[in-house]
Amino acid sequence: STRLQDRDKEVNVQVLLRCRPLSDEEQRSNVQKGISCNEHKREVTVLQSVANKQIDRVFTFDKVFGPKSQQRSIYDQAISPIVNEVLEGFNCTVFAYGQTGTGKTYTMEGGMRNKGGDLSAEAGVIPRAVRQIFDTLEAQSADYSMKVTFLELYNEEITDLLAPDDNSRSAAVEDKQKKPISLMEDGKGCVVLRGLEEEAVYSVNEIYTLLERGAAKRRTADTLLNKRSSRSHSVFSITLHIKEAAVGDEELIKCGKLNLVDLAGSENISRSGARENRAREAGEINKSLLTLGRVINALVEHSSHIPYRDSKLTRLLRDSLGGKTKTCIIATISPSAHSLEETLSTLDYAYRAK
Ligand code: ADP
Ligand code: MG
Repeated sequence: STRLQDRDKEVNVQVLLRCRPLSDEEQRSNVQKGISCNEHKREVTVLQSVANKQIDRVFTFDKVFGPKSQQRSIYDQAISPIVNEVLEGFNCTVFAYGQTGTGKTYTMEGGMRNKGGDLSAEAGVIPRAVRQIFDTLEAQSADYSMKVTFLELYNEEITDLLAPDDNSRSAAVEDKQKKPISLMEDGKGCVVLRGLEEEAVYSVNEIYTLLERGAAKRRTADTLLNKRSSRSHSVFSITLHIKEAAVGDEELIKCGKLNLVDLAGSENISRSGARENRAREAGEINKSLLTLGRVINALVEHSSHIPYRDSKLTRLLRDSLGGKTKTCIIATISPSAHSLEETLSTLDYAYRAK
């Protein structure tokens, strides 16, 4: 929903809802469905019977994608316009928000590519965005540079997912690697991450290789520390500098940034009752997830105080949230009647962000 007050106060937060299909396992064990999606009416209905009475709850979003929706249609309908904004020199962020197991990583990463290097039907937002950016810039024969970073935020600490592997690291590099990555601002309102690997990339396949490396690193960390990914956020960022036609002696450079964020599982806040009075307790569990909700609400409500400083994630994304930026939240849910409580909590969170 776009809310235009005056030019400086433009807030653009789009909220999409995606419901995954029942898994084979769930189908085999006859799990009941508790959700119905109406894409045309942009509605999700939670089917609930309380004391033998059917009390359905209906939520409306900017777009609704049901269990049969394809990766490609989500991308084409909702994400591609955002990537065009980035190519025009704006900063934009796409979040996947939802309970663990509802398809955040599938939506953001999905299957990366086929053997031949083409996008597979399963490819998610990240590989498709990368492809669109390269295709557009190549078609324009643009003079550009592109840098990517891929990091993970766990317990308010940043890990570089693109840093060289431990076993291939020299002692000197190892020492450097152990320094925590520090987050700063450059005085012009831009976020600077000291100690983070920033890779210049020149082709789609190069980015895919980096992505696969980072994603694999995340999976390894997951096995070492039980389900770490459900409690961590991953942020893949692409920064573009595009040279525009020179005016006289001056060279104009458009700078755009795209952040693609796979958030920690929302159960990390909802289970402890994320709302106001219990926020402090929940904050210990995942401060960043909670603060993000507050920041988005504050932006949507044009509040005079946006609490960016309250968490690493919002500090990290500060130059891409608010102001003339576009934000898209993809809330993911399960269709199962067993997860209704978590689903309602996700729907509430996402609905409040509208
Ligand atoms: P999360 O990252 O939210 O924990 P995942 O993306 O890992 O969840 O998804 C959990 C499982 O469900 C994975 O096996 C994934 O492939 C599958 N899945 C999720 N969404 C879909 C979908 N829309 N279509 C088919 N399979 C899906
Ligand atoms: Mg995941």
